[in-house]
Amino acid sequence: MSFLMTEEQKMATEGLRKFLNKEIKPQLEAHGEGHFSKEQLQGRHQSLAEFGLVCAPHPEEFGGLGMDWVTHLLLWEEVAVVSLDLAMPPLINVVGADLLINNAPEHIRDEYVPGLLSGEKFIAVGISEPDVGSDVAAVKTRAVRDGNDWVLNGEKTWISNGEHMDLFVCTCKTGEGELTHIAIPAGTPGMEVRGIPKMALNSQSTSQIFLADACAYR
Ligand SMILES: Cc1cc2nc3c(=O)[nH]c(=O)nc-3n(C[C@H](O)[C@H](O)[C@H](O)COP(=O)(O)OP(=O)(O)OC[C@H]3O[C@@H](n4cnc5c(N)ncnc54)[C@H](O)[C@@H]3O)c2cc1C
Repeated sequence: MSFLMTEEQKMATEGLRKFLNKEIKPQLEAHGEGHFSKEQLQGRHQSLAEFGLVCAPHPEEFGGLGMDWVTHLLLWEEVAVVSLDLAMPPLINVVGADLLINNAPEHIRDEYVPGLLSGEKFIAVGISEPDVGSDVAAVKTRAVRDGNDWVLNGEKTWISNGEHMDLFVCTCKTGEGELTHIAIPAGTPGMEVRGIPKMALNSQSTSQIFLADACAYR
């Protein structure tokens, strides 16, 4: 395996670095440490999408660039050097888009993947819970079938993008020893999102998500 960047990777990262230093860095310096609004995030992520952020590693048939994950990470690293706050949402969006492309039913994929790749939409992925971190099998949030719906009850914590998300992919227990990712649109009744104030990274969102009889589609 070669550890040298290809010419394509060099061009992609250099172009992005110039744009970040010229356009984004001054905006962030003026913004200071406050929370980004969703509109600010959308504007910046739509500009970053033009350089391949989020779309790079996904297949062309879903609107991606069909490049590789190394290229995506090289691009992501450029953003993280300028601002980890700005880099967190696309880190979650790229994983969330991958989850939807590979696992979601067509109607969910079609509704959310294009917006995730263009920087207009945000996704959150909820595995961690107050007593559940590394040990994913211990997830307690439960989803139970009710006709065509799933009814979710539980609590998630440390969820990146929580306050900005359009879609929440929630890891739930659906049977004895069975875990399922369930997609639940933001604003669904029974779902409450609360931001977590932290020592750092406060311009982006990390949140608690409470689910009390929240109805979702899979
Ligand atoms: C800013 C931020 C954003 C986050 N965003 C998300 C998100 O979007 N979605 C989400 O689901 N979660 C998110 N998390 C949660 C993060 O993924 C968890 O913190 C992580 O999974 C670790 O869980 P924990 O903190 O409970 O640590 P623990 O699981 O309690 O682990 C503590 C330490 O013990 C070690 N350890 C644990 N089990 C073992 C073992 N069996 N053997 C040896 N060592 C072990 C771990 O490596 C770790 O060093 C976020 C966290 C932060 C801080």
